[in-house]
Amino acid sequence: MGRVRVRFAPSPTGPLHIGGVRTALYNYLFAKQNNGDCILRIEDTDSQRYVEGAEEYIIEALKWLGIEFNEGVSFGGEFGPYRQSERKEIYKKYVKQLLDDGKAYIAFDTAEQLDEARKNIPNFQYDATTRLTMVNSLTLTKEEVNKKIEAGEKYVVRVKIEPNQKIVVNDLIRGNVEVNSSILDDKVLYKTTDELPTYHLANIVDDHLMQITHVIRGEEWLPSAPLHVLLYQYFGWQDSMPKFAHLSLLLKPVGNGKLSKRDGDKLGFPVFPLNWKDPKTGEISSGYKQSGYEPEAVVNFLALLGWNPGDDTEVMSMQELINKFSLQRCSKSGARFDFEKCKWFNHTYLQNCDNSILAQQFNIQVQERGYNVTIEELTKIVEYIKPRATFVNDLWRYASFYFERPVQYNEKDSKKHWKEGTSKILVELLQQFNTLTEEQFSNIEISEQIITAWCKSTQYGMGKIMNPLRLALVGEMTGPHIFQITTILGKKETEERILNAINKLS
Ligand code: GLU
Repeated sequence: MGRVRVRFAPSPTGPLHIGGVRTALYNYLFAKQNNGDCILRIEDTDSQRYVEGAEEYIIEALKWLGIEFNEGVSFGGEFGPYRQSERKEIYKKYVKQLLDDGKAYIAFDTAEQLDEARKNIPNFQYDATTRLTMVNSLTLTKEEVNKKIEAGEKYVVRVKIEPNQKIVVNDLIRGNVEVNSSILDDKVLYKTTDELPTYHLANIVDDHLMQITHVIRGEEWLPSAPLHVLLYQYFGWQDSMPKFAHLSLLLKPVGNGKLSKRDGDKLGFPVFPLNWKDPKTGEISSGYKQSGYEPEAVVNFLALLGWNPGDDTEVMSMQELINKFSLQRCSKSGARFDFEKCKWFNHTYLQNCDNSILAQQFNIQVQERGYNVTIEELTKIVEYIKPRATFVNDLWRYASFYFERPVQYNEKDSKKHWKEGTSKILVELLQQFNTLTEEQFSNIEISEQIITAWCKSTQYGMGKIMNPLRLALVGEMTGPHIFQITTILGKKETEERILNAINKLS
């Protein structure tokens, strides 16, 4: 096999849906695994559906996720231009070739005439059974056709499908998919209204000229694949036809059907990688990035939606995914979008992330609130509190007590843990703290050892000492291990918080 070349070919009709991101990811993994090329082609031949800003969005989103292209729009390369609207002249040549070979024909039918046909013929489809009743170059004479063209009449070029032919699409995920050509219609390949080809023609011509070896795309394109196979034959390119792999759909978290933006809105999760502002309505849809997700976690989650590595490994880096990915292990059936799993991946990613790197990000939240703490100390705080956090943005919520004294104490917790006699116990605890030097106090092992030994020597029991202590320091019964709190707060702050609690709660 020659060099592997795949393409991700989105249409800039809006923000990139998370299903599209998965398609891009699988293309990328496959290309990288085979030391091949991954190409970004923008399929913007449908000018009516073009949305301002969508192309930039797609490029930025994939960059954030670490899905890299080595060729294509904004990356350059020898096979450009990579934006279909800039390839107008190229397509014209191939349209002419099909017309000259009798594989396509010109059709003048107006919208009204087509409506009329739909009304009169049940289940109307423009094909071998109906084309001879329509206004096209098969029913008009050459002179009539030329006259119409010279008069400036608009027309389309339609593919001429021969009926009753067996067409086989060999799919790497689904095996052989066979259809009879009679079910296909004579699809429009080219329109003179905007001098642009439709998706089908542009897609085939570009995949051929860009020497694409594998077409990995969503299942929604499977019904078009027989037409594509036929077009390769019509052009005489069957020997270099790419291999197809149609990926199963992403399904709703509950119920049936394809995952939609509405599911995300309803259940509260993003279906887009980045925030998207609709240029027409101004409506903002939330993205994974702005919702606090780490790109690595999103990639890991998406990779496993419709593919598995053959064992139960779940947490994988991009490089591991590249090594393990295989189209053969992609599933034929749809993958349910389990959003909780995505959160789980983010949580897991955060736990595996280097604490000093997290501390840098956490520092932004800390400084925003006017606090200045060394990175060493923040690194420790992050280590202590991150087991509870799912997102970087959660860190402040779980760490705020390190910076701010409790202004009030949780009522339920106070009732439960602050009893008569608690103040007296805590005064005794303060005396114990006083026997420790500053250095001993801030050493987690030493302070824990000495204080625990003292607790055990009293008749109070650990709970009666440690629970009110936690309440005094945090304001409620949450937070990490108690000595992970005291050692960071320091002796003076710990003592003052205990005295405050005694004043307020007794
Ligand atoms: N432009 C098509 C899309 O938006 C590409 C389909 C394909 O990959 O052939 O999904």
